[in-house]
Amino acid sequence: MKCPFCEANNDKVVDSRPAEDGAAIRRRRECLVCSARFTTYEKIESLPLMVIKKDGSRQPFDREKLLMGIMKSCAKRPVTTEQIERLIDTIERVAGNMMKREITTSKIGELVLRYLRSLDEVAYIRFASVYRDFGDIHSFFEEVRSLQEQEQQVSYVADPLDDTHPVDVAALIDDTASPDNTDTPDVTL
Ligand SMILES: [Zn+2]
Repeated sequence: MKCPFCEANNDKVVDSRPAEDGAAIRRRRECLVCSARFTTYEKIESLPLMVIKKDGSRQPFDREKLLMGIMKSCAKRPVTTEQIERLIDTIERVAGNMMKREITTSKIGELVLRYLRSLDEVAYIRFASVYRDFGDIHSFFEEVRSLQEQEQQVSYVADPLDDTHPVDVAALIDDTASPDNTDTPDVTL
């Protein structure tokens, strides 16, 4: 470790003890050139959040890519970038709290759809058309019809990210994140 005083790279550890409740190790070091003492902390590097694609392959979660995909669905709609950022924060937080720090593309898609439906129907339909890959105009109208039916049943739609109306987002996600075997195609992430 480079000495902060003389910049020599020659030191010895004089003391080593757990810190931050065992989450870190604190090391007291002594520079062998200038005899100054300084402290270093060693911590586990947090694992990257991984996305499991439909074919079972994994890739690092790409926040920007998801943001761009959702923003495209929200073009010229009254959905703010801040609202989209909050949604992505929630997805990252929920997936990040899971043991394996993994989330499937279809779970991400479900979370996005659920949120967009409460915010803006046009954005929802646009995202769904990409995500669910409506093969024909019939399946597209089916989706619109089911949206209308649900609307008649629910008098108000709560913001799923509004803390006063908490939605169990975690329930949408298996904590044993396994490769998708559903019919839903990969969302463009
Ligand atoms: Zn030194």
